[in-house]
Amino acid sequence: HAKNRGGHSYQFFNDSMNKNAVRRLQVENQLRQALRNKHIQVMYQPKVSLRTYEFVGLEALVRLNIPGTGVINPSEFIPLAEETGLIIEMGEQVLRQTCRDMCQWVKQGMVQGRVAVNLSAKQFIQPDLTQRIMTILREENLSPEYLELEITEGVVMEDPERAIEIMTELNNCGIHLALDDFGTGYSSLAYLKRFPIQTLKIDKAFVDDINGADRDRNMVASIVAMAHNMGLDVVAEGVVNTAQAATLSRLSCEFAQGYLFAEPLSSDAFLAHISVPASIH
Ligand code: C2E
Ligand code: MG
Ligand code: MG
Ligand code: MG
Repeated sequence: HAKNRGGHSYQFFNDSMNKNAVRRLQVENQLRQALRNKHIQVMYQPKVSLRTYEFVGLEALVRLNIPGTGVINPSEFIPLAEETGLIIEMGEQVLRQTCRDMCQWVKQGMVQGRVAVNLSAKQFIQPDLTQRIMTILREENLSPEYLELEITEGVVMEDPERAIEIMTELNNCGIHLALDDFGTGYSSLAYLKRFPIQTLKIDKAFVDDINGADRDRNMVASIVAMAHNMGLDVVAEGVVNTAQAATLSRLSCEFAQGYLFAEPLSSDAFLAHISVPASIH
């Protein structure tokens, strides 16, 4: 063991392990600092109707913007935030900022629909989750009907019975729920029909090859049909070209997000984007 070699324990690690460890520490410190200074940034990606290409809602996506270092994406810091427990504070700052922006936009008559916010596993199982969310909504003056929370299959299938209770509580407050990244987890259909959700978001993985592989296209067709039979809205994630949009529309998928329409945008850029009529036709 490294320890037995006294002061030379660093020899135990090779260069890449070292680099990873250093990077992790840097990101963790930057996250802590951003949380302390309330510098967590929220970007917004529009959700559009595949029938009219009109804006129908939006999703909030967190960014860690370090002056001088650049932007760090969630794939790097969300797992770390989960492990360290910082995700709770981060999630609340994201929700607060989102409610604040949304309240402004609703007041100005700029946005319609709901704003979707991603919930992490740790947030979801907090015993007082509903009260915490309702408190933030109240303090930021946003009515719950403007909020949708996105939860992944993995999170709800951890303890489905408990998840149903939590989701029902949120629903009863007027908050809508979406099942995110659908198809990548392991939802049981028996539970799916019992989950009090309003929206199913088809993971980008199925959209990517929707015009290439018959299997992917058939899969999407089945998911859309099933969702509609259950009275759910369907949103396709990660639409990057018009051919994908056309196929999704043909398969009766009514909503989509993706770079074809817009990348996640800063609040200013988002407002500018939705202020001009739909430009892709
Ligand atoms: P998600 O909830 O499935 O969000 C969709 C991701 O796909 C976002 O990545 C978005 O920027 C990206 N995306 C959207 N359209 C396209 C496209 O056309 N092409 C490609 N290649 N990507 C597209 P992002 O922002 O990096 O977030 C990654 C994941 O991190 C999210 O996946 C979500 O699970 C998590 N996340 C983001 N913000 C939050 C947050 O505030 N709280 C929590 N707990 N998780 C978050
Ligand atoms: Mg999402
Ligand atoms: Mg998500
Ligand atoms: Mg997703």
